[in-house]
Amino acid sequence: MRRLTLLLSLFISVTFFAQAQQEDPRRYIDSAVHYMDLAQYSQADEYFMTALDKIDVLSADFCFYFGKNSFYLNKFSQSIDWLNKYLELKGSRGQFSKETLEILEKAEEAFRNNRGTTGSADVNAKFFYLNTISCDENELITCPVCKGDDVITKRDRFGEMLYKTCPYSTNGVLTCTEFNLLIQGNLKPKNK
Ligand SMILES: [Zn+2]
Repeated sequence: MRRLTLLLSLFISVTFFAQAQQEDPRRYIDSAVHYMDLAQYSQADEYFMTALDKIDVLSADFCFYFGKNSFYLNKFSQSIDWLNKYLELKGSRGQFSKETLEILEKAEEAFRNNRGTTGSADVNAKFFYLNTISCDENELITCPVCKGDDVITKRDRFGEMLYKTCPYSTNGVLTCTEFNLLIQGNLKPKNK
């Protein structure tokens, strides 16, 4: 009986661990950064895009990594947007602020030189991959933050479940404009 209990608890902890692993989308960022450091930027981009899909609130570091990787993929306008977002969040004293400014300068120069040839069309196309329907303002899009529930649940540090009304959506949906602002990190939370 004791053996069974032990086995059972082992099974539960393994299952829990596997689930926790699966549910932690930050590992996609780790993988992305790993590939970026190996100069495998397309590979890194795939992991970044998966992270973008799965993470509700993006960190400043993500903005830096994604902006840097975009630069190496010659997506200069996208790079500029995300690097500026990093600076907006971290100012000049962030861990990556200096490198951000360096890449930003190169990205802006490259963007000026490439204007008209490699336009910014790919930027939005890439962002809108989450939104496969055409971006019609009358169409409502399920909010990716609350997955349409209009409620966000998370556990506090004592493991208690907390429920909060989604600060972004109205009844779990966003307009196209709101959606695009959200994925660019520019949608302001409402006071609910
Ligand atoms: Zn929502």
